Amino acid sequence: MPTLRFQALQQLHEAEKKISGYGDKKITAIFGSHVFTGRTLREHLSDEAYKSLSLSAKTGQRIERRIADQVATGMKAWAESHGVTHFTHWFQPLTGATAEKHDSFFTIKSDGTAIELFDGDALIQQEPDASSFPNGGIRATFEARGYTAWDPSSPAFIIETGFGKTLCIPTIFIAYNGESLDYKAPLLKSIAAVEKAAVDVCHYFDKNVTKVTPTLGWEQEYFVIDETLANARPDLMMCGRTLLGHSPAKGQQLEDHYFGAIPERVFAFMQDYEQECYKLGIPLRTRHNEVAPAQFECAPMFEEVNIAVDHNTLLMDVMNKVAKRHKLKVLLHEKPFAGVNGSGKHNNWSLATDTGVNLLSPGKTPRTNLMFLTFFVNVIKAVHDNDDLLRAAIAGANNDHRLGANEAPPAIISVYLGKYLTEVLDEIESRVKEKFSEQEEVTLKGDIHKQIPELLKDNTDRNRTSPFAFTGNKFEFRAVGSSANCASPMIVLNTIMANSLKQFKKEVDALIEKGEKKEIAILQTLRSYITFSKRIRFEGDNYSEEWAEEAAARGLNNFKTTPEALDAFVSEKSKNLFFNNGIFSKRELEARHEIMLEEYVKKVQIEARILGYLATNHVLPAAINYQNTLIKNVKGLKEIGLDEKSYYAQLQLVKVISKHIAKINDHVEAMIATRKEANNEADMHKRAHAYCHSVKPHFDHIRYHADKLELIVDDALWPLPKYRELLFLR
Ligand code: ADP
Ligand code: MG
Repeated sequence: MPTLRFQALQQLHEAEKKISGYGDKKITAIFGSHVFTGRTLREHLSDEAYKSLSLSAKTGQRIERRIADQVATGMKAWAESHGVTHFTHWFQPLTGATAEKHDSFFTIKSDGTAIELFDGDALIQQEPDASSFPNGGIRATFEARGYTAWDPSSPAFIIETGFGKTLCIPTIFIAYNGESLDYKAPLLKSIAAVEKAAVDVCHYFDKNVTKVTPTLGWEQEYFVIDETLANARPDLMMCGRTLLGHSPAKGQQLEDHYFGAIPERVFAFMQDYEQECYKLGIPLRTRHNEVAPAQFECAPMFEEVNIAVDHNTLLMDVMNKVAKRHKLKVLLHEKPFAGVNGSGKHNNWSLATDTGVNLLSPGKTPRTNLMFLTFFVNVIKAVHDNDDLLRAAIAGANNDHRLGANEAPPAIISVYLGKYLTEVLDEIESRVKEKFSEQEEVTLKGDIHKQIPELLKDNTDRNRTSPFAFTGNKFEFRAVGSSANCASPMIVLNTIMANSLKQFKKEVDALIEKGEKKEIAILQTLRSYITFSKRIRFEGDNYSEEWAEEAAARGLNNFKTTPEALDAFVSEKSKNLFFNNGIFSKRELEARHEIMLEEYVKKVQIEARILGYLATNHVLPAAINYQNTLIKNVKGLKEIGLDEKSYYAQLQLVKVISKHIAKINDHVEAMIATRKEANNEADMHKRAHAYCHSVKPHFDHIRYHADKLELIVDDALWPLPKYRELLFLR
């Protein structure tokens, strides 16, 4: 019987490839058609409801129950015009996936009449079972009340699955006592915190600013492989990454994939998922091949953080769904293949005012330049003070494979500024003094004015190895993992920026009160921040050995594994930071810490099980099978009277195979033993460390010997699709 591998290869060979395209459709014709926003909103709502909803989206103001009824009615009418029968509160629990619980509009009144109903109550609140989502002990299972609450700042949308259509209402997910159980609730709080702090600081420069919004433009990397081949590998099916597999003779070394022509089958898939995304209002702009074979990237135009986060989670869902139609599999895992680049999700982040200014874009006048410098330096200071939190925000079992593996930024957080800005900061540092003569003040301001327009030329100055790089008009957080929910790094970034700005304002106000002129007070405070946070700045090659050494000498953190990195969430400093800015209570932080540790443990545990199974049930039988053939051959050669020289090579192979088999067997057994020991550890922190430092090291050994066997064993007997097939066949 042919193995699954050969069946899959046969199927791939015979399958008809789906083609797709936009036809004569323009993107503008479908863009946002499945979103309850803009014109659609205007058409389906009364003036009163429209105004109230728009105001709420802008200012976060509560929507009255009476108005919610009107919004619900309009939403239902719109959804029904699209053939929608059900609605769901759509939320982002800490599982990392999105969650839905569908209810129909259909209901039966007390007199038995069947009607379709959707009112304000159903719009505002629902009660899914909180006990079945990660809650880190916040909700004991017997008291499972948690509820989802409508987030009017993100528009409702319609998801199509096959022929079914569902109205999705973005919501936050909280426990009965208000503690958050999801990503969105703290994200909204962090947005509010940074908005308030940034507006206050903006008022030094421009009283007309009434709102500042953090913006996010993500870039999503992913792999696309044939689904049938993927399904022939239990590791890809269950873990989203290969736990075994020798690298192919040709990998990415020729660099012939990057920006090359997109393969036809993948191109069809891209066009299909793009169209689904456009209907959902996701403004995709870019698509291209990435560095590794079978790796690709897409990116939208940037949006307000809350919307951008929703759109990224939606994109990941849409991709998975649409890939199935093409018999393809999308791998969003950070490291699906060893020896081949992994995937990240760059988070481009900035702050925009309602007066149309990007606060991280160098200005054209002295006043706006000082405003730019203020926000720019505050980001650096915030990162300097909280590098451990930023590292924690991107920690996870998957991303551990990538950070510091000479293909992605290291686990050491540093900030890259580029040549010109480095010079500007150096200059401020050397020239701003405690006391100025009036003439000196005038020259200083004039000089800063002259220098900064130069920055606009700085846009091409890039450092692709930096985890946190200034790229001309935004910061790019490049160490985020491809499968992550962007909310996690955004919550941290918004919060630390809010905190830094608040402190900044306090310090500047104190100087002004002492009689210092506003601009000089600002410059002096900036100078002290520049000096204070200098050690976080690094312009060189982040992948180099020397940087790791230098960073250690500078006293920068370098948390290589998730269990170590996550500790930052529960330090006294973090607890105060999150509490003082209204994001998390101490209990919430502890619960989240527990959830993340548990998730880490579960991921490594599942991988360990699958790896043990693969080694024992796939690799060893194939090796033994081949070894038997060799033994038969040796026996036969002996039998016909040939001397040892004629079967020496075969004999050596038999011995080598035995050696690898023994090693695999030993390590699988040891891995199981360490796993049992780890599972007995009641304390989650200790359990995570045990999984990280006792269980996981066996992975590499098992893999090493299994991959050696892959090179030796008869190809016809090898049961798992090989890297060359996964990466190059479609
Ligand atoms: P590149 O970096 O390739 O030159 P861009 O500068 O246009 O291209 O943007 C790269 C990414 O940064 C895009 O995803 C884009 O949406 C995002 N981006 C651009 N400006 C901002 C901004 N002000 N805030 C957040 N993201 C932004
Ligand atoms: Mg990028």
